[in-house]
Amino acid sequence: MMAQYLEIKAQYPDALLFYRMGDFYEMFFDDAVAAAEALDIALTKRGKHDGEDIPMCGVPVHAAEGYLLTLIRKGFRVAVGEQLESPEEAKKRGYKAVVKRDVVRLVTPGTLTEESLLEARRHNYLAALSCVRDEWALSWADISTGAFQVMSVGQSRIGAEIARLAPSELLTTEAVDESMREVLSDLGVYPSIIGASSFDSTAADTRLCGLFGVKSLAGFGSFSRVELSAMGAVVDYLDITQKGRLPLLQPPKTETVSRLMQIDSATRRNLELTQSMNGGRAGSLLAVIDKTVTAAGARLLERRISSPSRELTLIHARQEAVQWGLETSIADQLRDALRRVPDLDRSLSRLGLDRGGPRDLAAVRNALSQAETICETLDNTQHPELITDAVGSLSGHDTLLELLDSALVAEPPLMLRDGGFVAPGYDPALDEARRLRDEGRAVIAQMQADYAEASGVQSLKIKHNNVLGYFIETTATHAEKMMSAPLSETFIHRQTTANQVRFTTVELSELETRILNAGNEALEIEKRVYDTLKSAILASAPALSLCALGLAEIDLALGLGHLARSRDWSKPKVDTSRAFRIERGRHPVVEDALSRSGEPFIANDCDLTAADKGASVTLLTGPNMAGKSTYLRQNALIVLLAQIGSFVPASAAHIGLVSQIFSRVGASDDLARGRSTFMVEMVETAAILNQADDHALVILDEIGRGTATYDGLSIAWATLEHLQSVNRVRGLFATHYHELTQLAGTLDGVKNATVSVKEFDGEVIFLHEVRDGAADRSYGVQVAQLAGLPKAVISRARSVLDALEQGERDRTSPKALIDDLPLFSAASTAPEPAVLSAADSELQDKLDELLPDEMTPREALQALYELKALQ
Ligand code: ADP
Repeated sequence: MMAQYLEIKAQYPDALLFYRMGDFYEMFFDDAVAAAEALDIALTKRGKHDGEDIPMCGVPVHAAEGYLLTLIRKGFRVAVGEQLESPEEAKKRGYKAVVKRDVVRLVTPGTLTEESLLEARRHNYLAALSCVRDEWALSWADISTGAFQVMSVGQSRIGAEIARLAPSELLTTEAVDESMREVLSDLGVYPSIIGASSFDSTAADTRLCGLFGVKSLAGFGSFSRVELSAMGAVVDYLDITQKGRLPLLQPPKTETVSRLMQIDSATRRNLELTQSMNGGRAGSLLAVIDKTVTAAGARLLERRISSPSRELTLIHARQEAVQWGLETSIADQLRDALRRVPDLDRSLSRLGLDRGGPRDLAAVRNALSQAETICETLDNTQHPELITDAVGSLSGHDTLLELLDSALVAEPPLMLRDGGFVAPGYDPALDEARRLRDEGRAVIAQMQADYAEASGVQSLKIKHNNVLGYFIETTATHAEKMMSAPLSETFIHRQTTANQVRFTTVELSELETRILNAGNEALEIEKRVYDTLKSAILASAPALSLCALGLAEIDLALGLGHLARSRDWSKPKVDTSRAFRIERGRHPVVEDALSRSGEPFIANDCDLTAADKGASVTLLTGPNMAGKSTYLRQNALIVLLAQIGSFVPASAAHIGLVSQIFSRVGASDDLARGRSTFMVEMVETAAILNQADDHALVILDEIGRGTATYDGLSIAWATLEHLQSVNRVRGLFATHYHELTQLAGTLDGVKNATVSVKEFDGEVIFLHEVRDGAADRSYGVQVAQLAGLPKAVISRARSVLDALEQGERDRTSPKALIDDLPLFSAASTAPEPAVLSAADSELQDKLDELLPDEMTPREALQALYELKALQ
C-alpha cells in the first residue's frame, strides 16, 4: 500500500494527497504534518518507512468538504485519491492485491464548484497570464458559472486588470512569474506555476476546438497567439485538475481594455469598491448598493462595479433598464419571484462536472418554473431593450421543465445514493420496486409480532444493521429458551453480544433478500432517471446559461431601481462632452453609515467641467475632519456609478465619459510590503502622471504629506501643474498646503474650494459644506482639542502656533514664495539635456558604480571623499 501511495504522491508533489482508505482520507509523511497543523487535528503514526515512523492523519470522508475548505483557504492544493474498486474486487485479483486507487480530482482555489466552498455572491475566477513575444494576455474562467473570457493587455496594465478580476488562482509559467513577480506580489497574488507546454498556442487551438466541438474558433472571434496561449492554459489546467472531466464553459468572449473604464489596483483599494480597507465586503460600495435578491444578480453587480463601461450606448441601455426597474409597478411581485430562483449557473456547472446531486436537478426545475412565472408577468408590455432580451431568454424551456416537474419530488434529498428523489408515478418499474421494498418492511413488522407470539418472548425485536442485515434480537435472559427445542428449530443463532443474543430464520432471510433486491432495483432505476434528467439538462446548457443571465439582468435592474427610488437617486446625463457637474451629490457609503445613527449627510455640488482642450482641477482646503476625503471620493463614486448605468446619489449630474479614474491618498501605510510610505505615495503619483489622459478623473488626497513640508509642497505643486498642463485632467486635489491655493490665480482651469467650518467659543463646528474659496486656517489645534488632548497641551500648542505665525508674517509672505518658484514647463518645452563635462562624466561614472546597500560605513565615507575630490 505504501508503494502505491508513494507512486501516486510522486505525481502530485505540490499538493496534499487525500488517500482514500475506507471511510477516511488519510495523509502521510510531510503531508500529514502540514495538514494536521493546518486543520488542528491529531497527528498519529502508522508503520515504518526506512526504519522511521510514518506520520499520519486523516479526515472522515463525510466531513471532508469542511476540511478541504480550510486547506484551500490556507493556500494548499489537494489531490483527492479515491478507491477505484471495492476491496472484494481487489481480492478477486489476488489474496494480497491492493485496492486500485488514483487521483480523481485536484482541488485548487480556482477550480471549486461545491456550494460550501464558494461564496454565493462572488465570482471565483481561475486566470492565466501569458506572454508571447512581448505581447501579454489574460484569460479567465469561472467554472462554477461557465463564464470564459480573454483579453490582450499592455504590460503596464496587467496589475490593474488582475486587481479588477481578483482571481482565486492565477496560472503563469516560470518565465512570466520572473518578470511579473513584483507586480503580482504587490497585489498579494501568488501564482500557480505550470509547465510552458500548457501555454503552447498551437496546442491551445486544438484543445479549444475539442472543448467546444468545432473545427475552427473563427465563429467565436479572432484570437491572437498570445490570447490563444492564455485560453489554452486555462483549459489545460482544468483538464489536469478535473482529470479529463471538462466543465461546461461558454465560448470565449474577448474583452477589450479600451471599452472599460480603467481603474488601477490602488484606486480600487482607495475607493473601496468591492472590498473595504479591512478586506471584507461590509463597508464597500458594493455592499451598500447591492439590493439584488439572487446570487447571480449579486455576481453581475460585482462584475459591473469592477469594470464600469466607456461605451455610451451600453451605458444608456443599462440606464434604461434601471429606470424600468425603478418605475415598473410590479417590481415587488417580480422580486418575490426572483427570491425563489436558485443558483442555476452553479447547479449547471456541478451537473456538467458530474459532481451534482438531486438537488441540482431540482434547482434547475425551480429556476425554470420561476423564469416562466416572471416571463408571463412581463411578456405582454413594452420594455427597454435589455429587459426585452432578458425576457426572451426566459421562455422556451417548457419541455425540459415538464420533464423535471413530472420526474422529481418537491424537495429531493441531497445525495444521489440515498434515492428517493424521483416522484411516484413517473416510472412504473420504479413504483413497483418501491412497493415491493415497502411492503417487505410492513411484513417485517408483522413478522415481529408473530414471532413474539409464537415464542412467548414479548420483548423480541427485529432489527437491522449493515453487518448482519435483518436479525431477531432478545435479551440474554430469553436466549436460552430460544436456543432449545422446539424454538431452536425455527430460530437460528447468529451472534451473542454482551447483553443481547441475535437470531435469524429462514423466512426472515428470504424476506430480507426480497427487500434488498427491490431496494437495489429501485435505486438502480433512480440512478438511470438521474442520468436521463442530467443529460436533458446538459443538452440545453447554453440556453439555460442565457436564462440564468437574463434572470440576473432583471434582478440587477430591479435592485438598482429599488436603490434609486429608496435613496432618492437621480439619472445622470452621460455623454461624450468634457462636462462634470454634480448637484447636491452624496457619498453613498458614508451617508448609509450616518443614517444608521440618525445623522444627516450634507450634500455638495461639484463642477469640474473642462474646456475642450483644457483641464479643470479644484483645490480643496479645509481642516482635518471637515469632510475633504469624503467629498473627493463621493465624486469619483458618482462617476463610477454613472458608468455602470446606475442612477447616482445626487439631485442631478452631467458627466462627460471618464476613461480612467485615479485615486490616491498621501502616505498611506504600506509597511506590510516593506516600502516607506512616502515611496509608495511617489510610485503611485508617478503612475498617474505617466498614464492619465485628458478624459481621466484624478483624485489626490494630501499628496506630498509624507515628507518634510517644503519637499511635500514642491512635489504637490509640480504634480498639480503637470496634471493641469500636460495630462489635462478633470480632478480634485485636497491639500494641507495653503500656499498651493495661490495657483488658482495663475493656472487656467484651477480653482479653490474649501469645506467650511464655524468657530464657536474656541471650538470648531464642522459644517461639511463645500464652497468656493480657500480655507483661512487649518484649525489643527481645535481638532486636537476635540480629540481629547489634555488642556495643558492644547494651550501650550496655541501659544507656539501664535509665535510661529507671527514669525512667518515678519519674514516672508506666501505670495513672495509663490513668485519665487518657477512655474512648471510642459513636457513639450522641456530643455535638452546639457552636454556633460569630462569631470561631470567621471563623477557620473563613479556614482553609477556605487552600491550603497553593499557598503560598510567606512567604505561609504571613503567613497564620499573620492566624489568630493572629483568635483
Ligand atoms: P477629512 O478628509 O477632511 O479629514 P473626512 O472626509 O475623513 O474628513 O470626514 C470626516 C468625517 O466627517 C466623516 O467620517 C464623516 O462622518 C463626516 N462627514 C464628512 N463629510 C460629510 C458630509 N458631507 N455630511 C455629513 N458628514 C460628513
